Amino acid sequence: MQHFLSFINDLNSLIKVPSVKGEKTESAPFGENIERAFSVYKSIAERLGFTVINHNGYALEVAIGDGEEIGIIGHLDVVPSGTGWETDPFTLTEKDGIYYGRGLCDDKAPMLICLYALKQLKDSGIPFNRKIRLIVGGDEESSWQDAKYLKENANLPVYGFSPDGNFPVSYAEKGMAVIKIKIPKLKNFTDIKGGTVVNAVCGYASAKPNFVVNEKELKEFGLTFNNGIIESVGKSAHGSQPQLGKNALLPLFKYFLSKGEKVEKVLDYLFYDKVGLCKLNSEEGFITLSPDIIYESENEIELLCDCRFPHPFTLDTVKEKLNQFGLDYEISLKHDTLFVEKDSPLVRALLSAYNSVLGTNGKPISQGGSTFARVFEKGVAFGPEFVGKSNFIHEPNERISKEDLIKLYDIYYTAILNLIK
Ligand SMILES: [Zn+2]
Repeated sequence: MQHFLSFINDLNSLIKVPSVKGEKTESAPFGENIERAFSVYKSIAERLGFTVINHNGYALEVAIGDGEEIGIIGHLDVVPSGTGWETDPFTLTEKDGIYYGRGLCDDKAPMLICLYALKQLKDSGIPFNRKIRLIVGGDEESSWQDAKYLKENANLPVYGFSPDGNFPVSYAEKGMAVIKIKIPKLKNFTDIKGGTVVNAVCGYASAKPNFVVNEKELKEFGLTFNNGIIESVGKSAHGSQPQLGKNALLPLFKYFLSKGEKVEKVLDYLFYDKVGLCKLNSEEGFITLSPDIIYESENEIELLCDCRFPHPFTLDTVKEKLNQFGLDYEISLKHDTLFVEKDSPLVRALLSAYNSVLGTNGKPISQGGSTFARVFEKGVAFGPEFVGKSNFIHEPNERISKEDLIKLYDIYYTAILNLIK
């Protein structure tokens, strides 16, 4: 990598801005700190000889070349630092060959690396046979208003990649729907609640019985009794991978059933998958269904489920199965499947860059989560997290080694070179 020291200096200027979303101002839809991060990035890009387009405070763009357009999208906003840091989260700090800082990998270094790679390609005189549009958003961690603005106003390229996910290259992302199941209130229990967010497996649930409980019996169900409340403790996991968690609602519903409540259907369909919804699968994975939140409304009990479906399944596939449950439900689509052909020029160019730099034989992957690649109609996520390695993204002590930073540079440089050839 050329100009490593100047790269590290620029990276530090970006890390120094605590670019967490804040109060909207006239010129800054995501607050002053995002505006500051944009202005630092803009001055770096201008110093490197690029013209920068400002998409009304929602995103910045650097474009180079002619011909078919390929987009690259990432972001400069970060999640709050939180606690547990061993270094100052907003100072790029190096210890024993490892760099630390909030937003380092998610997504400031990848965004700066792509800019430096474009600069080196520009200087080398290699002709750009495609137009590369490097777009830097400011609202990925919150509500994707930058994506919405760009889709409506920036005439985005169809194909593109986002260095805001995992390697080798993720060519498919599942669609997601939230299913609300409504069941009648129970006879013997009130105050039923559980779960925190719909995209995390329910790790804790509780209910209040209106009878004297037998604690020994409760224990057999894996439940405990505290201050008049029955508690169920499971293990949370990302809603797209319910198999990695332990849903706290299951033992609770088994207990409800044993006390004569009519919850057979909830158990049969939401937990035991009687209609085989979660047996449906394609090369891109299985359909998943995870009941993650429960609460009582005025007249009924509501259960919110995270449902993911891989290409080529659709919301209709899910509805068809749901109709067989015989349960009252509402369904809302959060996002559709994202799918790019594995043998498309985009996926091949990226994968070959990755494999040639690392000397590996990595294959395209599909995933249940969703990334910023969705900004493009045909978008793929491409790094920066290496297989089997964690950069502590969204956690304290977010980090990357100097060695991996250089690898990232080589991979993104080679990928863009493959795309413009
Ligand atoms: Zn990110």
